[in-house]
Amino acid sequence: MSNLWQKCLDYLKNDIGIEETEYAIWLLPLHADISDSEIKLYSPNRFTLKQVTDKYLPQIIDFCRKNKNDLQFNVRLMLGDIPKKEPVREVVSNTASNDADELEKKLKTSTNLGDQNQKNNSKNGLVNYYSFDNFVKGTTNQLAWYAASNVAANLGKPEANPLFLYGSTGLGKTHLMHAIGNKALEKDPNIKVLYIRAESYMQSMVKAYHSNSLNNFKNIHRSLDLFLIDDIHFLSGKSGTQDEFFHNFNTLIENNKQIVICSDRSHHEITNIDKHLTSRFAGGQSYNIDPPDIETRTAILLKKAQESNFELSHEIALYIAQRIQTNVRELNGALNNIVAYYNLHAGKYENGITLDGVKIAIKDQLAQHSKIVSIDNIKKVVCSHFNIKLRDLEGSSRKKNFVVPRHFAISLCRDLTNKTYKEIGDSFGRDHASVINSCNRASEMCAESEESKQLYDELSRTISY
Ligand code: ADP
Ligand code: MG
Repeated sequence: MSNLWQKCLDYLKNDIGIEETEYAIWLLPLHADISDSEIKLYSPNRFTLKQVTDKYLPQIIDFCRKNKNDLQFNVRLMLGDIPKKEPVREVVSNTASNDADELEKKLKTSTNLGDQNQKNNSKNGLVNYYSFDNFVKGTTNQLAWYAASNVAANLGKPEANPLFLYGSTGLGKTHLMHAIGNKALEKDPNIKVLYIRAESYMQSMVKAYHSNSLNNFKNIHRSLDLFLIDDIHFLSGKSGTQDEFFHNFNTLIENNKQIVICSDRSHHEITNIDKHLTSRFAGGQSYNIDPPDIETRTAILLKKAQESNFELSHEIALYIAQRIQTNVRELNGALNNIVAYYNLHAGKYENGITLDGVKIAIKDQLAQHSKIVSIDNIKKVVCSHFNIKLRDLEGSSRKKNFVVPRHFAISLCRDLTNKTYKEIGDSFGRDHASVINSCNRASEMCAESEESKQLYDELSRTISY
C-alpha cells in the first residue's frame, strides 16, 4: 500500500475518529493506485464504493490535496481491482484461487510454485498433482481422508456408495476427489473415471441435447466405473439436469459403480433439488470437512513450502497460521505471495525470508483477517445496506422489508462464521429450526433470482473483505 493512502487511513482513523469496525469494513478493502496527479481507490464491490462515496469521500479529498499541496489533485473511486501492469505481478496477486480448475490454470503459468507433475488429464478431468500423500490430515478432515482412501481402494462397495463430502470452500474436497480418481487409476489403469463439476455436467448435457447426441452423453456417463461429481449444489433449481443425473446416478449405483459427490453443504441443507435425489445422497457415507485447526494449518504451510523448495521456519508458519484461519486456499494464497515477494527481493534476504519480510508480503491479507467476521459485523452491514434498524432485523415483524434482510443475515452468519445454528439462533432470538428455515429461504431466493444471488454474494464479499 502506498504511503499517501496509508497516511490517509491513519488520518481517518486517528484524527477523524472513524470507528474501528466501520474502518475495517469500508476502508481497509480499498486498494490504492497513485500517480502524480491522482489517486484511484479500487473498491471490491459497489456497496463499499457507495458507502465510501457517501461517508468519507470529502475527507479523503481534503486530506490528499493538503498532503500533496495540490488543489487539483484528483481522488477517484473505481470498481474492481487495480489493473495488473507487469506480468510478474500476476504471480504476486495469485491469492485465493476459486477452485481446483483455476488453480490448475495458475499452476501452469506460475513460475514460482510450478511443478512438472501438475498436469491435467483432459480426458478424465483429473489433476495429477492431487494425491492422498500430499493432503495434510488433521482433526477436521481425517475422517473424510480415510473414507476417501478406502473408496479409492475398494470402488463400488454399497456401504460407501455414494461417498458424499461436504463443507465450505477451500477445505480440500476437490483435492480428495482427484486423489480418489488418481489412486483408483493407479490401481487399475483400465477403469473409466470422470471428474466433472456439476456446472460442466449441465453444460455438456445441454450441448449434447442441441447437437442430437444426448444418447451418447448418457452412454458415456452411465458406463463409468468411477464418477466424481463436484459442487453438486450447483444443480439447485436445474430440474432438467437433476432428472438426467438421477437416472445416471441410479444406473451406476445399481451396477455397483462408484459415485463421489461434493457439496458446500450437507444433503438436507441443499434446497431446490428433488428430495428423491438428495435422499439418495445419504444412501452411502457422508463426511463433513471443517476448517483446519492451528496445528493443521501450520503443517499445511510447511508441507506446501517444502513442495516448492522454499525455506519456511516453523515460527513463521505458525505466525501465518495464527492469523489466516479461514481455509487452505487462503493459506496457499499467502504462501504464494511470500514466495513471489521473496523472489523479487532475494538479495535482501540472504538467510531466507524473515518475519518482517513476511509481514510486508502479506500485509493486505493480514489486514483483512485482523477483522474476524463476527455476527455483529454481519448485522451491521446488512442493516446498513437495507437501511433498516438493528431492532427490526432482530425483531419478529413479518414485513417483507425485514424478513428478507433477516433471512440473508442469518444465512450469511451460517456461511461466513464458524458459529453453530444454536449460537446464531441465540443472537437473533430464534430457535434452531428457524435458523435452518432462514438459511433455506435465502438459498431459495438466490436460486430463484439472479438479482438476489448477486446481492447475497456482494454482501458476503463486503463482509469478508
Ligand atoms: P474445496 O474443493 O473444498 O473448495 P480444494 O480441494 O479446491 O477445496 O482446496 C483448495 C486448495 O487447498 C487446493 O490447492 C488444495 O490442494 C489445498 N488443500 C486443501 N486442504 C488441504 C490439505 N489438508 N492438505 C493439503 N492441501 C490442501
Ligand atoms: Mg471444490
